[in-house]
Amino acid sequence: MVTAETTNKNLTYLQMDDEYVNPVLARSFRIVAERAKGSYIYDMNGDAYLDFTTGIAVNNVGHCHPRVVEAVQKQAAQLMHTSVVTHHKGYIELCKRIVEITPASLNSVFLANSGAEAVEGAIKLARYVTGRPGIINFRGSFHGRTFMTMALTTSKLNYREKYEPLPSSIFTLPYPYTYRSHFRGNPEACLEDSLKQFDALFTQIVHPEQVAAIIVEPVQGEGGYIVPPVTFLKRLRQIADKHKILLIVDEVQTGFGRTGKMFAIEHSDIEPDILVLAKGIAGGMPLSGFVSRKELTNKWPAGRHGTTFGGNPVSCAAALATIDVLLDEKLPERAARLGKEMLERLKKAAEGKPHVGEVRGLGFMMAIEFSDKDGNPSKENAEKAVAKCFENKLLVLTAGSHGHVIRLIPPLNLSDDEAESALKILEKCMSV
Ligand code: PLP
Repeated sequence: MVTAETTNKNLTYLQMDDEYVNPVLARSFRIVAERAKGSYIYDMNGDAYLDFTTGIAVNNVGHCHPRVVEAVQKQAAQLMHTSVVTHHKGYIELCKRIVEITPASLNSVFLANSGAEAVEGAIKLARYVTGRPGIINFRGSFHGRTFMTMALTTSKLNYREKYEPLPSSIFTLPYPYTYRSHFRGNPEACLEDSLKQFDALFTQIVHPEQVAAIIVEPVQGEGGYIVPPVTFLKRLRQIADKHKILLIVDEVQTGFGRTGKMFAIEHSDIEPDILVLAKGIAGGMPLSGFVSRKELTNKWPAGRHGTTFGGNPVSCAAALATIDVLLDEKLPERAARLGKEMLERLKKAAEGKPHVGEVRGLGFMMAIEFSDKDGNPSKENAEKAVAKCFENKLLVLTAGSHGHVIRLIPPLNLSDDEAESALKILEKCMSV
């Protein structure tokens, strides 16, 4: 007899997964992806899911973009790995390309594999060249899961608890999260209050001359898609300049068109000392990096940092194709326009729904924050909305310290029809 269970081709693999995969690896949905194309993921049963997760802000050019696939196939047949044994063309071309698309002052690139690894490298560079130990980070931030990046991550206890001792000399200040502050509705007042904490930090806890860097996400990702006032980064730049502290901007999640500009710093018109890149850089292939100023990197002697796999030829080829697609198809602009329209629709849908705290976003980094009946963050309501979306074959993820936010991270080349389908589902699912 053929039962629903035996026709579910996902099940065999899920059972094997339960048996062989380290259970620490949490997955969001119990489906097994077999293939993906554009905005859709197909499971082993052939069911299609509209993907508003993009592998956590990675597939910015959609799944398996033909130009990226072609570049990967061609490169894989030609040269797959050299490590630091030799130079290779793709590495050099990609570094040149990154310098061309990032702010003018940034002109020296290091390539790595993951976001956390790139943040680690950026911190090592900052400490080495300044000779200072201190790092200032922000509450609610996420920078990765290695020891230094865990120490810099304060979005959730889950990421740090029971792993202590963590690296020290890290000083955490509040991020201007207006909605959950005393200044709801007044982002500028919230910003001033957050920045005031620098004075207290520098008089009570650490002398600014002992601080190597400030590290910041231009829009907080894991923290709940929190968009600070546009002047936030400018003010940080001023503080950093005043005390000769380096400003590290972590664009791992916001980069490569996600916020409606190639990089989120362009909204604030500032140039960081170190810009950290990953996720969307290579269309789904593992790659990351950080770009800085030669004046700094020239003080970092050869061999003081390195990697075996970072800047792998196949990943570099994928990144070069991805950047071309982003620019040729004007995808950041598309994310800016469509993101604005979608946000307006979602804000309208949220009207009169007290459990929807706030709808916010920048470009294609959009979020719906849920509250309970007393106005407190509600993980339960966010999870109900995620489950309803899943029933309607729309994949969305949660974020936020309480898991009370759902984040919408579509591919930047989402079609108008796909946007409409998703909006209809989301409008329905907001009524949890
Ligand atoms: N920095 C930010 C802002 C991130 O969002 C992430 C991952 O979500 C990381 C760093 C860590 O990246 P990875 O998971 O590739 O190590």
